[in-house]
Amino acid sequence: MKELTHDSKLDDIQLYINGEFVQASSNETFENKNPFTNRPINRVASGQKSDIDMAVSAAKAAFKGEWGSLKLKERLAYINRIADLIDEHIDEIAPLESLDTGLPIHQTKKMVARAAQNFRFYAEMVSTRLTGDAYQVDDDFLNYTVHKPVGVAGLITPWNAPFMLETWKIAPALATGNTVVLKPAEWSPLTANRLAEIIDKADLPNGVFNVVHGYGETAGAALVAHPDAPLISFTGETKTGSEIMKNGADPLKRFSMELGGKSPIIVFDDADLDRAMDAVTWGIFSFNGERCTANSRLFVHESIYDTFVEQLMERVENILVGDPLDDRTQVGPLIHTNHYENVKRYLGIAEKEGARVVSGYVDEAHADGNFVPPTLLLNVTNDMTVAQEEIFGPVMCVLPFKDENEVIEMANDIRYGLAGYVWTNDMKRGHRVAQKVDAGMMWVNSQNVRDLRTPFGGSKHSGIGREGGYYAFEFYTEVQIVHVALGDHPIPQFGKEKRT
Ligand code: NAD
Repeated sequence: MKELTHDSKLDDIQLYINGEFVQASSNETFENKNPFTNRPINRVASGQKSDIDMAVSAAKAAFKGEWGSLKLKERLAYINRIADLIDEHIDEIAPLESLDTGLPIHQTKKMVARAAQNFRFYAEMVSTRLTGDAYQVDDDFLNYTVHKPVGVAGLITPWNAPFMLETWKIAPALATGNTVVLKPAEWSPLTANRLAEIIDKADLPNGVFNVVHGYGETAGAALVAHPDAPLISFTGETKTGSEIMKNGADPLKRFSMELGGKSPIIVFDDADLDRAMDAVTWGIFSFNGERCTANSRLFVHESIYDTFVEQLMERVENILVGDPLDDRTQVGPLIHTNHYENVKRYLGIAEKEGARVVSGYVDEAHADGNFVPPTLLLNVTNDMTVAQEEIFGPVMCVLPFKDENEVIEMANDIRYGLAGYVWTNDMKRGHRVAQKVDAGMMWVNSQNVRDLRTPFGGSKHSGIGREGGYYAFEFYTEVQIVHVALGDHPIPQFGKEKRT
């Protein structure tokens, strides 16, 4: 295998429909750029409504055909085969992901390994946990439930951890027996294409898995509106999620919505401050800060505020910002110039609002890349724009707090509710605060470490529904109840008696 560099020439990317790699029917393409150099990597077929129509129709035929009639063991063998193939190619997929997104290579390697686990995990989950219930009703009835696949699942994914997030949806969708049309984010098409090649190699029946690259407003919107794709699982911005729900209202889509976040991390004065410092810095600066569960709001108890912030500034100064393909790099360039401009815009707003902007170090040699240095926003109040809106970059607001009640109020005074983190050695307080924060997922004395069996998702404007573990079954399957009479229970006898 030839080592990937920023000068490597990569083939252009096609759509994957009905088991074949094809051009977009319009023949249109768009440019895919390297965020480290801002030079083109390759061109990508730009799918339109007609391509979505073909992909959905292939997926529908596969659902009604070969895929739908496989035995469970046969279906799950395909899922495990995909996992094996991903594992075999981690060292090739991770650099592709880093090249495309700017995410540091030591992080993408873990993400790709996790992607393989997603498939293996759901093969196991479906064989052990996709079970129905039985309801005995005296001697009269036995009622039981079965979980049936729904049909074609439309999966629409973001660019911030593309391969991992795509597999997170594809694995439960396929393992439960649905077929898939994936619309990956337009800024990160490389590994979605590699996944199509892997699934092609795994030899799934044609049409079970399809990838239509393209813009959200065209390919994405066509998938949302398509009457034959009853499921739409979306991960992305809150604003896009609400737009998608409007567009899917007429065809009455079932939605899973994983949306934005602005998660609090709360550090009390009795916490293990060294570990808290590690968690705070990793939680905001890993994935270049482009992480939905990032702790982008740090609340520090006022008695330790000055020393904690001083140490934090030292950490920020020392973070290694650089080439995403270099194993030592801790923070890489942001995905795209548009996103870079947007994050910079927020730093301008922060200054205007009176915050103190403290930034880390980026070598001048990296001037071509979309680099925003790791940044702290100090002197912030909770009502500022930068404390309320998701910036989605390596930028963290830092606020002092006086006591438990005040910090819970500040943590909850926001429209988001995805995740949160509490650091304290008072375990009663740890549980209490965790449960009072309005967020789908909380960690006590830990960074974001997630067991695949647990539910993933947000409250308020951070999402609707839960993915992960058996929670995903609610979305990807239709529960049917079958009522079976066991004896001769009474049935009303309309019209049996002669009318007088
Ligand atoms: P985005 O909303 O801009 O795009 C996400 C996807 O939606 C892309 O594939 C895009 O092409 C598509 N899209 C855009 N408009 C569409 C439309 N009208 N119809 C159908 N599809 C459309 O999000 P992004 O910038 O790619 O990702 C960053 C966002 O994702 C952040 O807000 C982040 O918090 C969120 N996110 C959430 C989670 C979570 O699990 N809650 C995980 C990762 C990222």
